[in-house]
Formats: sequence, C-alpha cells, structure tokens
Amino acid sequence: MTAAEQRYTSLLDPLAFPPFLSCPDEHVYDHQRGSSPVQHWCFLGEIEEISGIGRLCLDVKDREGITVRIYFYLDRLSPSVREIHINPPRITYPKHANVPSHLVQKGYTIAVLYAQQHRWLAEASTGIRIEDGDMVQIFPCSLSELLSLGDRILQRVPQSKTAAELRTCGWCGEKAASLLCCSACGLAWYCNKGCQRIDWPGHKKDCKLTSQVGLLMKQHWSHVEPHFKFPLSTKP
Ligand SMILES: [Zn+2]
Ligand SMILES: [Zn+2]
Repeated sequence: MTAAEQRYTSLLDPLAFPPFLSCPDEHVYDHQRGSSPVQHWCFLGEIEEISGIGRLCLDVKDREGITVRIYFYLDRLSPSVREIHINPPRITYPKHANVPSHLVQKGYTIAVLYAQQHRWLAEASTGIRIEDGDMVQIFPCSLSELLSLGDRILQRVPQSKTAAELRTCGWCGEKAASLLCCSACGLAWYCNKGCQRIDWPGHKKDCKLTSQVGLLMKQHWSHVEPHFKFPLSTKP
C-alpha cells in the first residue's frame, strides 16, 4: 500500500464521520469556537422524508438508525424567494448549487460538514440546523451503498501478483494480471482501451460517485485548519 492510499479515512471512522449522537452539542462547540475545532468531521444520513414550506426540512437516518431532522436556514447567505403553496403544499428548495432539487430525493445520502446537535426549544426536539450550503453535499446513493463503496475504496487492491486474480475486466469478464485501471476512480479494471471505451456509458455514473466518495475519504480529517467546504478541493 502506498502512502497516498493509506491516507484514506474509513466512512465508519467515529471521529471523522460521527453518527448524530456523537456530533458535538452546538453550545459546547460555540464555547470552543474561539479556538480551533479539535478536528474536521462530517455527518452522513440517508434522506427518508422531504418536507418544508418556506424552509427545506429533511428527515434522515444515520448509520446507527437514529432519525434526525435537518432544517435549512440559508436565508442569510443565499436569500430565496419565500413561496407558500398550501394546497397542494410545495416544497421550498434553497437556491444553492449544493442542494439541487434533483438530488434532494428519498434514498439519497446527505453529508453535512461540522454538523452539531441543535435544540429547537419550541418543538422540544434536536436536529441539525444548516446555515451555509457550502457545508452540504448530496450523494446519489443510499447510505449503505455509500458505506460499501467506502469499503471497496479502502480495500483497493495494490499492484501485485497476488491481487491479480481479484481483477476482472469490467466489460468482458476476462481475468488477468495486467489489467488497466480506470484512472478516474481507481476501482474499475479493463483488458484494454477497447473494453474500457465500450463499458464507459455504463461505468460513467459509478465512476463519478466513486471519485466523489474517494475525495471525501482522502481529506485530512485530523488536521484542523482551514475549514473544509463542498465541493471539496482535489488538491489536498
Ligand atoms: Zn475486457
Ligand atoms: Zn472509473
């Protein structure tokens, strides 16, 4: 394994990708804001319900099965026109490039940087309050698909003879020691450029998702400054 591959952080890492109950309470975090946060972190949850007139509201489930309510308060940074449609009610999507309505779908996974446990006193409930759309990215796959993709990225086989038998051409199924690797995602193997070209229309979507998830895992989660934001920079 090369040094570059060792830098990948597991999506199950309790500090980098904490479930909701391990995210800091906002009052604790506020108190520490004068100093640097201890490290970067990112909450992951699968969208289960979408609602919200005036403000987008998502009910998401984290990997521990806890359902968390997320409210978007992007007015301050990205003012949006408040549309109210009572009958039928229409959802208001924030006008932010990271939260396009085609990605706000049940079964997709939302990533929230620096998510904190917020208490809504009126509702006597806790959840996540999002004030900055740059802190959000939505992945077009379920949380379990995201986690298994993360596993496959971690297990990416290094170039060695023993690993060769695990390699199969993504198009024709040929097994060989000297397959070409898709340079964009590093997870697809091909006999030659021909097989890669024929498989591309089918691989394109997986390739983009794998690259995005790989980028998330490749960040220096244990470094403190500067703060991350989405879309993530490809330069570490
Ligand atoms: Zn092939
Ligand atoms: Zn690829």
